[in-house]
Amino acid sequence: MLKTMLPETIDPSRLVKQNRILTGVIPLESLHHLHPMLAGEKGNITAHVEGATSSGCPEGVLHCLIEGHLVVQCQRCLSDLRLPISERFSIAPVRRLEQEECLPETVMGWVLEDEEKPSLWLVMEEMLVLSVPLVPKHKDENCLAWKSDAKEQKNQANNPFGELATLFKK
Ligand SMILES: [Zn+2]
Repeated sequence: MLKTMLPETIDPSRLVKQNRILTGVIPLESLHHLHPMLAGEKGNITAHVEGATSSGCPEGVLHCLIEGHLVVQCQRCLSDLRLPISERFSIAPVRRLEQEECLPETVMGWVLEDEEKPSLWLVMEEMLVLSVPLVPKHKDENCLAWKSDAKEQKNQANNPFGELATLFKK
């Protein structure tokens, strides 16, 4: 099935002025900064971006939502872990770094400098990088390592010599 791609570059001020909403997918294959964190690069992330004016943001604001999932490696059992992604955030385009400091706290600055066609994909990619936990792990009951640990503990409990062995160690 063909899906609409999210435009790779945009003119943020036009999006704001026209109150436009963009919806589309970004192929994970294209997000190279994210790749070192992934166990698989197949699939897409869906993004919604809505331009709006805002009193605290002179250049307007973009309300964003990224959804989908990433496949990363569980740091406990080293098998694949499907990480659901659903991040809402607002970014405000600013011309210079100094302007970023004046933005409301709930809004992140998107410093454009003199770039004519700033990359929307890069912004989404950064958010994805931030959404991956430092040490991704399965929930206990879903983790292979936890399951084998639990089994081992049970076996030890059933083994009458297990207790003796611990006595001898004293
Ligand atoms: Zn695991």
